[in-house]
Amino acid sequence: MALNSIIITNLAIPTHATLSFSTTHHFFTSPLPTKPYAFPRRLCIMGSSSSSSQKPDNVQEAGNKDYASISDEEWKKRLTSEQFYITRQKGTERAFTGEYWNTKTPGTYHCICCDTPLFESSTKFDSGTGWPSYYKPIESNVKSKLDMSIIFMPRQEVLCAVCGAHLGHVFDDGPPPTGQRYCINSASLKQKPN
Ligand SMILES: [Zn+2]
Repeated sequence: MALNSIIITNLAIPTHATLSFSTTHHFFTSPLPTKPYAFPRRLCIMGSSSSSSQKPDNVQEAGNKDYASISDEEWKKRLTSEQFYITRQKGTERAFTGEYWNTKTPGTYHCICCDTPLFESSTKFDSGTGWPSYYKPIESNVKSKLDMSIIFMPRQEVLCAVCGAHLGHVFDDGPPPTGQRYCINSASLKQKPN
């Protein structure tokens, strides 16, 4: 009888101890250190999903009053729903899904909204991000502005300088000669042969 109760006690203790150890272990390993650090690389690449804007962005400074006056309804007629979401509502396509993330065809990439030439295929490089990436835009046909839509992660949004279409973001981790990485949504582009 005495032996029995010792065995039961012995069985109970390790089980309980294992459970509480694994809870503690989980508590220490999961939340804080990894999350904020892994976040930048993936999400920072693009990822603005602010959907508040009702009108095209501030495009007055590029001398393009015609485009600034185009309503969302009109843009919806001109664009597919994905193109509208990305270019006019600052959306982001999923990585490795766009038309141009992995293409190497020679040509020029134009704005899907206003046909302005934005990037040459000669400046395209494989960034491994799943989005078409370029180290340089064509002349000053794109502009950038500070994007604080992800908290604690200031980024430079890239827009078409003519019509204000949201294109993607630019980062300082690109290859020579510029060291910049223009990370662009395929849906904001249309490639044409030179
Ligand atoms: Zn444009």
